[in-house]
Amino acid sequence: MITNIETTLVEVPTIRPHKLSVATMNTQKLVLVRVSCDDGIQGWGEATTIGGLAYGEESPESIKANIDTHIAPLLVGMEASQVARAMAKIRKTIQGNRFAKCAIETALLDAQARRLRVPLSELLGGRVRDALPVAWTLASGDTSRDIAEAEQMLEARRHNIFKLKIGLRGVDEDVAHVLAIKRALGERASVRVDVNQAWSELDAVRGIAALQDGGIDLVEQPVKAVNVAALRRLKDRFDVAIMADEALHGPDDAMAIARLDAADVYAVKITQSGGLTPALEVATVARLNGIGLYGGTMLEGGIGTAATAHVCATFAELAWGTELFGPLLLTEEVLLEPLVYKDFMLQVPTGYGLGVEVDLDKLRFLQRRSH
Ligand SMILES: [Mg+2]
Repeated sequence: MITNIETTLVEVPTIRPHKLSVATMNTQKLVLVRVSCDDGIQGWGEATTIGGLAYGEESPESIKANIDTHIAPLLVGMEASQVARAMAKIRKTIQGNRFAKCAIETALLDAQARRLRVPLSELLGGRVRDALPVAWTLASGDTSRDIAEAEQMLEARRHNIFKLKIGLRGVDEDVAHVLAIKRALGERASVRVDVNQAWSELDAVRGIAALQDGGIDLVEQPVKAVNVAALRRLKDRFDVAIMADEALHGPDDAMAIARLDAADVYAVKITQSGGLTPALEVATVARLNGIGLYGGTMLEGGIGTAATAHVCATFAELAWGTELFGPLLLTEEVLLEPLVYKDFMLQVPTGYGLGVEVDLDKLRFLQRRSH
């Protein structure tokens, strides 16, 4: 039986300012959920988002309030091992709140996988890979600093895929920045861009033409999420891969975009999808429609990152890798044993459940410092 659900907010400084078209992050506020059960088993989940309300329509504070006030009371007293039934109740009763639902489903599945003494990936259809390619985001905003950072990552064999956050400056300035980095790294790295919806369609036509000529491999969410027709026209016009990210809020969007044939690649995000099960559905829609897969992040800490890793470990094809570097952007680790990054890959944890253990002392320390 589920006996208690606790939510915790902790604010952690980033290792450097992280500049997106929607926000500059100097800290990240982690939203962590712990579900306790009467058999002594606990499960953890995470609902971290980017930049307060700058990226999505749920903020860390609203997620905490909605779980505490509306979701937890529905669950306490329910049978903990009946995860699908618990989630069906929540999905029927609670509108929206995809991030909150994701954290709850993650915690319930973590607990259930621990109960069954299997890694979480085995509850999600079964693991077919133990390590995931992992991109790094260059987002200092400064070209020479970004190149130096990329060179360090290549040297350390940590990342050879780089995603550049653009859209804050003018198209020409952004394109010059990206192409300077691509020229410096050459064939040693895959260079991609994420515009985070910042371009008009005309900006996108001009920008993508130059990026494609310069050897950029992928363009993520160049135009507004709602403008799926523009995304389709860009996909038709260019050979470079076009990825849908903000346009994907779960399986219904995945179906709609697939019907319009509007993207080459889907960024699968457990939070944006509303949980691990709907994220698997997004991936299935992609697979059935010949759309490539990419494991996306909301810059979560170790818990949410491990959860996405378990989901991605079940994908037969993962042509575009992942961007599961969230914990590496933070100055503080919330896990007793950090996730392992080596040889350009994130190792998927092998222990029961999420396969990670939360450092409760560190969490208390971070909580005190956040208030
Ligand atoms: Mg993105």
